Amino acid sequence: MKITFPDGSVKEFEKGTTAYQIAESISPRLAAEVLVATVNEKIRDLNLPIEEDSSIKLHKWDDPEAKHAFWHTSSHLLAEALTELYPGVKFGIGPAIENGFYYDVELPEGVVVKESDLEKIEKKMYELAGRKEALIRRNITKADAMKFFADKGESLKTELISELADGTITTYTQGCFTDLCRGPHLANTGDIKAIKLLSVAGAYWRGDEKRQQLTRIYGITFPKKKLLEEYLVMLEEAKKRDHRKIGKEMELFTFSEMVGKGLPLWLPKGTDLRLRLEMFLKGLQKRYGYQQVITPNIGAKQLYVTSGHWEKYGKDAFRPITTPEEGEEYLLKPMNCPHHCEIYKSSPRSYKDLPVRLAEFGTVYRYEQSGELHGLTRVRCFTQDDAHLFCRPDQIKDEFIKVMEIILIIFKALKFENFEAQISLRDKVNREKYIGSEENWEKAEQAIIEACQETGLKAVVEYGEAAFYGPKLDFMVKDALGRRWQLGTIQVDYNLPERFGLEYTGADNQKHRPVMIHRAPFGSMERFVAVLIEHTAGKFPLWLTPEQAVVLPISEKFNEYAQQVASRLNLLDVRAIGDFRDEKIGRKIRDNELKHIPYLLIVGAEEAEGGTVAVRRQGEGDKGKMSIDEFAKMVNSEVNEMIKDF
Ligand SMILES: [Zn+2]
Ligand SMILES: [Zn+2]
Repeated sequence: MKITFPDGSVKEFEKGTTAYQIAESISPRLAAEVLVATVNEKIRDLNLPIEEDSSIKLHKWDDPEAKHAFWHTSSHLLAEALTELYPGVKFGIGPAIENGFYYDVELPEGVVVKESDLEKIEKKMYELAGRKEALIRRNITKADAMKFFADKGESLKTELISELADGTITTYTQGCFTDLCRGPHLANTGDIKAIKLLSVAGAYWRGDEKRQQLTRIYGITFPKKKLLEEYLVMLEEAKKRDHRKIGKEMELFTFSEMVGKGLPLWLPKGTDLRLRLEMFLKGLQKRYGYQQVITPNIGAKQLYVTSGHWEKYGKDAFRPITTPEEGEEYLLKPMNCPHHCEIYKSSPRSYKDLPVRLAEFGTVYRYEQSGELHGLTRVRCFTQDDAHLFCRPDQIKDEFIKVMEIILIIFKALKFENFEAQISLRDKVNREKYIGSEENWEKAEQAIIEACQETGLKAVVEYGEAAFYGPKLDFMVKDALGRRWQLGTIQVDYNLPERFGLEYTGADNQKHRPVMIHRAPFGSMERFVAVLIEHTAGKFPLWLTPEQAVVLPISEKFNEYAQQVASRLNLLDVRAIGDFRDEKIGRKIRDNELKHIPYLLIVGAEEAEGGTVAVRRQGEGDKGKMSIDEFAKMVNSEVNEMIKDF
């Protein structure tokens, strides 16, 4: 049979050769490192025989596919350890997650697993991994699977099996542990060299709060000790940078149970930061021909029935708002798009008017389960830096390029140096699910690819990742800790113009449908600020930070002078405050350093007499004495240098 490699080369192998053997034939070193393989676009175990001409990709640790199989296999290892330590334990599900894995288990009557037990379980996992047990795959009938798991009293597994179709059931066994699973897995648990169980939590069986509560154990594993050590250091650093912690220390935002779960309250300093970001983007958008609009925070239910949102998301949304008037129903706005469609429709449009670019910092409301809420990254109310571009099909490429320029300027201004883009296109085969004509899709997909080429943006193409209503481009940034965040989306939409009957008059005097493009460079202000905090650890660029300087009088005697300095600086466009607490100067310096205010200005007798300030720059140390105006000039020119490109 012919095996095609990712570089296009083709080699002949005997039928029944496994991916592992193919790796071995290339080099023993590759065979030692490869963890799982993609055969004909499907991820599979290394030791499954390949029976026909196939394309193959061998995955080492650095590939997400390998990590996924590695962590998923680790959940089996955890389950095996639990079986030995807590006989009678029942298993729910044990998936890989973004970083590591978990297993949901029902512990025997009276048994509790606490954080303090994790070390013992970890030890058992190391012991079992040391046995280097192979994972053995079996295809069995539904009836056999039912009997096998029922005999072991695995009531959660039998519930899962009862929902499966016959003939598709596989089990995997390592040592004395057998799991219902479709794979893929590592060939051998011996590849798992470093193990850390991270936490224990409660989780309802199948996420249903009416079902029993299970114990969820989280962990992470690696093929090398060193990788685990690095991960744990990163985790410590991430804790220090947690936006919820820094947001509190810097007094940026808060939450109140009284106001409601998942509803952020922006404090004055956070508001200042957010408004400055908004001003920055508004300025850019103005330059790129956007028009600012404002729409209400609620809309008639019929609006979202028309847009299709009600049908698709209505079940999991806030309930409709009724009025004293019979039959009137409103929804909290979950999206700005339908409102903008109606603005587009408010006047007749000709091909010469396009593109129409409508922008709004639009606040939307989406219901999230309370357990899913997390700081500013998962909230129930957030503001999108939204815009909708209505254009002709031949304008898509230009519009994409312009939005990409805006996004790249933002990344530069905020020092996101490490980013990549993903182009999401249609599935190559299965095309019935997409709405819009073949010709339009072809054009739009090509336009996005060319826009990336012309701007020199590195982008990966993913087939089958497009929404049903159009292709899109997503930006992923890596923060200072190497974590990936999705920020910024540009999305083509053929659906809403159809549903809202949007039109323009073409050069041919006929009516045509415009193409709609949704775009949000920040995504939402909430999420973006959270990512920015974690990326910068609260050390925002000088142009953006809410407070650029703090004046520290060395004793109460100089409070008045310090006040004068702060007022003078504010007049000169420097955002300065004073620290007038009755504390020692050393303490004041330390406290204000923690607040990440870039400049500390220390004033005592000498400064008060000479009309000067003693300047310290965070992270750089003493900058010497200077007059108040000199200092203001220095800060302003530093800021101007930063923002001269935007
Ligand atoms: Zn599995
Ligand atoms: Zn939209």
